[in-house]
Amino acid sequence: MRAAICRGIGDISVEDIDEPTPRAGEIKIKIAAVGVCHTDLSILAGHLPSPRPIVLGHEGAGVVVEVGPDVREFVAGDHVVCSIIGGCGRCRFCLTGEQPLCEETQFFTGKMLDGTTRLSQDGAPIHSLHYQASFAEYSIVPERFATKVDDEAPLDKVCGFACGVSTGIGAAMIRANVTPGSSVLVVGAGGVGCSAMLGARVKGATQIIAVDIAANKIARAKERGWATHVIDATDTDAIAAVFDLTGGHGVDYAFDAVGTSATAEVAIGATRQGGTCVIIGRADATVNASIATTHFLRHKWVTGTFGGSITPKVHIPQFVELYQQGRLDLDGLLDARYSFDQIATALDDLHHGRMTRGVIVM
Ligand SMILES: [Zn+2]
Ligand SMILES: [Zn+2]
Repeated sequence: MRAAICRGIGDISVEDIDEPTPRAGEIKIKIAAVGVCHTDLSILAGHLPSPRPIVLGHEGAGVVVEVGPDVREFVAGDHVVCSIIGGCGRCRFCLTGEQPLCEETQFFTGKMLDGTTRLSQDGAPIHSLHYQASFAEYSIVPERFATKVDDEAPLDKVCGFACGVSTGIGAAMIRANVTPGSSVLVVGAGGVGCSAMLGARVKGATQIIAVDIAANKIARAKERGWATHVIDATDTDAIAAVFDLTGGHGVDYAFDAVGTSATAEVAIGATRQGGTCVIIGRADATVNASIATTHFLRHKWVTGTFGGSITPKVHIPQFVELYQQGRLDLDGLLDARYSFDQIATALDDLHHGRMTRGVIVM
C-alpha cells in the first residue's frame, strides 16, 4: 500500500510499504480523507520528539475493511473517524471522565498499545503516529481510538473531529462550557481557533471576538459569521481593544489557539475577573509564558485542554449531528483539498498559513 513516510527533518515522501494486518483489538481502515494538523508539521520539523521512520497523519476517517480478533464494536463496512484520544476505560482518569488524560496512552513512541510496531517496508519496521498513521491507504487503529459515525456523514468534513476541529469545538463546548449570552475571545483564527468560535456559537455566545495578525484569516472569520468582531493585532493593542468591546470588563471566556507566550498573555490579560481562559495551542514543546500573578487575585481560571477534552465515542457522533443540522460550519472551515501525492504541498501550505483547514482526499 502507499504511505507517506517521514525519515528525517523536513523529509516526507509517498512510498510503497507492506500492507498491515490488524491484531487483537485492532481494526483496519481504508482511509478516505485525512486532515493535516500542526502536530504533523511539528514532528516533520523536529519540534516534537518522534522515532523515525514514521508514518504521520492523525486526522483520518474512512471505512472499516477488516477487524482483528476480540474486536467488539466494529464490523467491515462501518464508517469511522479516528481520534487522538482513546481511553483504556480502567485507569483513574478514564473512570472519572477524563479520557484525554488516560494513563495507558503513550504519545510519540510510534508504537501500538502492545508495544510493537504494525507497519513495515520489506519487513523493516516503520513507526505509526498516535496509534493511527493515517497518511496511508490503510490504517491499523485500536478500536478504542475509533468512533463509528453516520454512513451519510461526508468523511472529508468530519475527519477533523479526530483532532483539530474537536480540539477547538471541545475547548469551547466542553472544557470551558461556554454559557449562553456570554462574550468570547479567540486568539488565532486558524483551523483550531475557528473551530473554537463554532463551538462558542453552538453554546450561544453572543459576542465572539477573533484576534489574529493575518488580515485574511480574521476577514474570513467575520464573513462566515463565526466572529462578531475582529481585531488585527499587527497594528492594534489587542487587550485594550477587547476591553473597549466589552464595556471595560474583558471577556467571559478566552481561548489561545496559537500557544506562544505573547498569545497566551493576550488571552489571559483579556479575560474578565472571574472569567475562564483556556490555553489550547502549543506552538512547540518548549514555550513558556509569564503570567502576572495579579490575574489570579482577580479570580481568573486559567486552564488548558488536550484534544478539546472530549470523550470521542460520546462527543464525535454529537458533533456529526450538529454538522448535519447545519449548526457547525465545517463546509466553510474546509478551504483546501489535496490529493495524496500533494501531501508535502499540503503541509507547506499549513506551515505558511495559506489555508484555514486542509484535507487530503485519498
Ligand atoms: Zn485510561
Ligand atoms: Zn492534531
